[in-house]
Amino acid sequence: MTLDAADSMISLRQVGKSFDDGASWAVRGLDLEVRAGEWMVLLGESGCGKTTTLRMINRLTEPSTGEISVNGQDVRASDPVALRRGIGYVLQGVGLFPHMTIAQNVGVVPSLLRWPPADIARRTHELLELVGLPPAEFGPRRPEQLSGGQRQRVGVARALASRPTVMLMDEPFGALDPLTRDALRGEFAQLQRDLGLTVLMVSHDMTEALLAADRIAVMHEGRIVGLGSPAELLAAPPHDQVRRLLEMPLRHAERVAALARGSA
Ligand code: ATP
Repeated sequence: MTLDAADSMISLRQVGKSFDDGASWAVRGLDLEVRAGEWMVLLGESGCGKTTTLRMINRLTEPSTGEISVNGQDVRASDPVALRRGIGYVLQGVGLFPHMTIAQNVGVVPSLLRWPPADIARRTHELLELVGLPPAEFGPRRPEQLSGGQRQRVGVARALASRPTVMLMDEPFGALDPLTRDALRGEFAQLQRDLGLTVLMVSHDMTEALLAADRIAVMHEGRIVGLGSPAELLAAPPHDQVRRLLEMPLRHAERVAALARGSA
């Protein structure tokens, strides 16, 4: 499928990354368009280049080849710090500052941007409510006084603080128990729709990708080997790697359904 560049919020053209001067390539000749308002999952086995791809978009890693634009702007033309403040970034483990309160953690980017204190307080309050953490109770706490799921919510709130339209998420629900993970993913999906966010999320969990994504891009050895909606990939896996990744959740679903019927 071809896409008009105007439809895409994140665009990668022939992007490559070698960490060893071309002896090997973590990402090779990658073309990808993420549309405005869509939730795309970048899926693939460990080491296939997902995190490197994500980090090149907000210039935590510089590409060796190719071009990347966000909202029509070449990222190389942007100051890397300003670029990162304008793009929400959520990662596994969250990386909250342990010596700061939850409210201070959520307000960290607005503080860096020198918003007036009253505006920071208002925004922090609003964001904690948005992610289901009552501000009076959670705002004054330290990260160590929260559960893993609550910390993950703080990570989402912090990433939303400067009202980004683009969110990059690296295994954001990875370290959580399955029930919390499912609940948080559902809540984030609601937020994503309400705020019209464009999301590119890294995962190596096919079930999560099938349940969360508008479209899935499957990576293998630094390349994209499949791209489509969950239904499209299920109906016709375009590559062996996609078929392999799909096999397990489908087999699990069949076995659980058989158990539920009492016929296993
Ligand atoms: P995982 O699911 O395990 O996090 P991934 O798909 O996100 O894996 P990347 O972290 O993008 O994979 O790594 C892709 C390849 O690039 C790997 O072979 C990795 O060892 C290599 N790599 C990543 N970062 C660096 C670095 N800073 N220096 C050298 N090699 C790196």
